Amino acid sequence: MSENGILIIFSGPSGSGKDTVLNKLIAGREDIKVSVSMTTREKREGEIDGTHYYFVSREYFEKKVSEDKMLENAEYNGNLYGTPKAPVDEMLKSGKAVILEIEVQGAEKIRKLYPDVISIFLMPPSMRVLEERLRGRGTDDEETINHRLVIAREEIKRAPEYDYVVINDTIENAVAGIETIINAERKKTFRNKKIISEVINNV
Ligand code: 5GP
Repeated sequence: MSENGILIIFSGPSGSGKDTVLNKLIAGREDIKVSVSMTTREKREGEIDGTHYYFVSREYFEKKVSEDKMLENAEYNGNLYGTPKAPVDEMLKSGKAVILEIEVQGAEKIRKLYPDVISIFLMPPSMRVLEERLRGRGTDDEETINHRLVIAREEIKRAPEYDYVVINDTIENAVAGIETIINAERKKTFRNKKIISEVINNV
């Protein structure tokens, strides 16, 4: 991994507000990028190919995995999801903070590959609030909502595997929490070896 690039895993259950928080976080910031994943799931209304995801067939996805073009991939709710490798490496090389919005199995794989990765879990303030948010979307029937809540509970149980937990009580608080983490990470000694040796050698 490059000295200045920071790789960040960002997970949280469906309805925790990941997309809203990330959109607000990256607005007007060139130093933070969100990786665009590949998926075999159906495109939802309003989603744009190449922006929200690369929507591909299972056959194409599996070909990319066999060609070793993916950093990680996982099956979630019957669909395949994965992170294309080349763009992430490229963004890290140019010093960006690169966010992977992925689920818990992918997070586990990335931690093994990149020991320096930092991981953030976006936590709803309570299960009750999560349920209200899922219902508030108005898109899912009762059975789907209950299914999402069961999955959410399992995912939340794995929050202790993450380095940081950010509570999404308000979008502003969640965004500020993530900014604080990124700012502190940038100041870690091992990410600043170059400047340290430059200053030492000029004394
Ligand atoms: P959705 O279908 O709601 O967009 O995403 C379902 C789940 O897949 C979310 O938890 C999301 O974070 C996760 N996900 C999205 N992209 C990737 C990816 O590239 N890899 C993995 N492992 N999970 C992903």
